[in-house]
Amino acid sequence: MRKNIVAGNWKMNTTVPEGIELAKAVVARSAEVPAEVKLIVATPFTHLYPVAEVVKGTVVGLSAENCADHAKGAYTGEVSADMLVSAGCEYTILGHSERRQYYGETDEKLVEKTKLALGAGLKVILCVGENLDEREAGKHFDVCEAQIKNVLYNFTAEDMKSIIVAYEPVWAIGTGKTATSEQAEEIHAFIRKVVADKFGAQVADDLTILYGGSCKPSNAKELFAQPDIDGGLIGGASLKADDFIAIALAF
Ligand code: PEP
Repeated sequence: MRKNIVAGNWKMNTTVPEGIELAKAVVARSAEVPAEVKLIVATPFTHLYPVAEVVKGTVVGLSAENCADHAKGAYTGEVSADMLVSAGCEYTILGHSERRQYYGETDEKLVEKTKLALGAGLKVILCVGENLDEREAGKHFDVCEAQIKNVLYNFTAEDMKSIIVAYEPVWAIGTGKTATSEQAEEIHAFIRKVVADKFGAQVADDLTILYGGSCKPSNAKELFAQPDIDGGLIGGASLKADDFIAIALAF
């Protein structure tokens, strides 16, 4: 059965003490959120271990925002999937558009990262989505299809149980421009079909597909009411616990 998930992507925001306070504020209000909605916070690497202590034994899950494409060794500055698990992580985001755009993250690298993350026991939140030029050229379906096929078609139906997809139109991230619920729903339904073509209807039906891109308390209800939108990956609005919880309450 697919799950409803609201995941906060803190990106490169908050100091460690601020992050601990934010996590405590999310935990403090988490009891208001119905049990069917899973809350996750994705923090910078430096915050993972102390935030793990805050969320331990609560309903709030912990995610990284990235992981290395090698298991261990001489890769200065990188953080491996095993390290994330040892810091208390259950999830990692992979393929966020900011990593694709600014850090040269390719689908090929994402295959390696996904293999290592799953091998370490992490669940993966894989981000896909088109940029503005691609949307305006009518290529949004092709772009999402290619990203899904290039990465997920290398995995098994069993692996898919540990994978969550986030559709994040790049033109909507941090811009205040949200995809309409119709625009988001048509891509979510399409992604589910691309997954069904390879893995069958059951795997596709069980896949959680999150929407990301300027999702906030005022638009979450309409987005989450769509049949193929199972929750959100939330950037800016996840930095205020009250907004983050208000989004989760939109279910
Ligand atoms: C994101 O970067 O994952 C995101 C959805 O950001 P925002 O909510 O700020 O658009």
